[in-house]
Amino acid sequence: MEGNGKVRIGFYALTSCYGCQLQLAMMDEILQLIPNAEIVCWFMVERQSFEDKPVDIALIEGSVSTEEEVELVKRIRGNARIVVAVGACAVQGGVQSWTDKPLEELWKTVYGDGKVKFEPKMAEPVSKYIKVDYNIYGCPPEKKDFLYTLGTLLIGSWPEDIDYPVCVECRLKGYPCVLIEKGEPCLGPITRAGCDARCPGFGIACIGCRGAIGYDVAWFDSLARTFREKGLTREEIIERMKIFNAHNPKLEEMVNKIFEGVKE
Ligand code: SF4
Ligand code: SF4
Ligand code: SF4
Repeated sequence: MEGNGKVRIGFYALTSCYGCQLQLAMMDEILQLIPNAEIVCWFMVERQSFEDKPVDIALIEGSVSTEEEVELVKRIRGNARIVVAVGACAVQGGVQSWTDKPLEELWKTVYGDGKVKFEPKMAEPVSKYIKVDYNIYGCPPEKKDFLYTLGTLLIGSWPEDIDYPVCVECRLKGYPCVLIEKGEPCLGPITRAGCDARCPGFGIACIGCRGAIGYDVAWFDSLARTFREKGLTREEIIERMKIFNAHNPKLEEMVNKIFEGVKE
């Protein structure tokens, strides 16, 4: 906090669609924050932004996808009291981590022979390079996630993580289960709640944008077994579970386990 008593906030973007910061920028409630906060860096809303100034709370959106971004997140960490990874790209590496294709092939597909001023690398979560104090989940996060996190940090407390799956909210809302009733590969059982089961509410299977509740839970095996019984192959299950979980070190092991001794 500076001498003026205001909390210094920075919102930094790595490789991303800018959807997370847009979500925060479009919240009316952000106006209530202004008298108590100083926006040190947030290029979307403040032209006079400074990436290398000290902040109390650093919000980081996007996956670390260039060597320059590796250095940037280290500088942000060095200047920040609290670092918050915002959204699926920053927390889990995002959908851009999904692919198994080599970087060179991806590069050619997007840029052809074009030249750029950065050194690309495969997309990774922010926590791969620096200590992250708190995560805000989702693609993009819900408005209430921002309110809860910023509100809690601003009063000097600490937000709590959600430790139950989307299924809990889905059942509480009374939505029909797309997994049981339509046989669709819903990832709700292994995905962190907080979105009020937004997708099942529209009759669509969850694809896990809020990330896995935990990498060690047995629910991965159990859901993979259910998917297998519904006719999905090992590859289809891994592809599905990988959408927002590409950096889960145990994913393939957990899925492979339930196919041991099974004829595919
Ligand atoms: S998490 Fe989703 S909304 Fe946020 S930057 Fe990444 S792709 Fe965009
Ligand atoms: S629709 Fe998905 S989130 Fe809802 S109860 Fe069924 S499996 Fe869980
Ligand atoms: S239901 Fe799943 S994919 Fe849809 S918003 Fe919630 S966590 Fe994300």
